[in-house]
Amino acid sequence: MAELVGGVTHPRFAPRRGGAPSTWWSKAFLRAVEEAAFATAELKRGRAHARAGDVGAITVASGSFMAAVLDGGDAYTVTGSVPTLAAGDLSVLVELIAAESGRIGALMSGDLPHQFVESVEEAGVELLPYGGELGSACTCETWLDPCPHALAVLTQLAWLIQRDPFVLFQLRGLARDEVLARLHTLSRARPPSPDAAGGANGPSVLDHRSDDAADDPVDDLAIAEEAALRAARELAQLLAE
Ligand SMILES: [Zn+2]
Repeated sequence: MAELVGGVTHPRFAPRRGGAPSTWWSKAFLRAVEEAAFATAELKRGRAHARAGDVGAITVASGSFMAAVLDGGDAYTVTGSVPTLAAGDLSVLVELIAAESGRIGALMSGDLPHQFVESVEEAGVELLPYGGELGSACTCETWLDPCPHALAVLTQLAWLIQRDPFVLFQLRGLARDEVLARLHTLSRARPPSPDAAGGANGPSVLDHRSDDAADDPVDDLAIAEEAALRAARELAQLLAE
């Protein structure tokens, strides 16, 4: 099987009974999978494969995923895609993690705060994909797109995302290590020059917090720096535990 560049491979799920994902974001991801499905029959076959443990290790990379699926003694290879976010949107994501106390801690403990995703959406960034964004291809000869094998992999992808929201970040183009590295970079003090707020560092969501703040780029930068420093402190504490 081909390797996905920069991918992380998650061990195969053992067979399980029922146990539908129970977090709001994995339900949202599963709704997108339902939207992507051609018909309920394929969806049911896909879920049956997922629960039977027919899906091999899933490799997740920036904008793509891949896994083998067993079906009646044959093995098929599913490759799938999710659009990555634009560079500016990824910066917004990281800034919004830094913007509030506790967010990086929540993410690292496997939680995806609803309020955080709402802020992300208010900033015009769609972290959770909709059905039409889930692309897939399979080596089976089914003309259905997505085929039950692809639906099986997508179902298990929701399980992975339920356990670790960073899997979703990685699909969208920002691996966990990169999130952490960017938070560290944000925490480095920048000189309070007039250009620094919106010039060399690009537009920031924090620049548009309010009209008053926009009038005073130095104050605005201080707010951003304070948030980033707080996130870095939380991160250091978590890594030390
Ligand atoms: Zn297939």
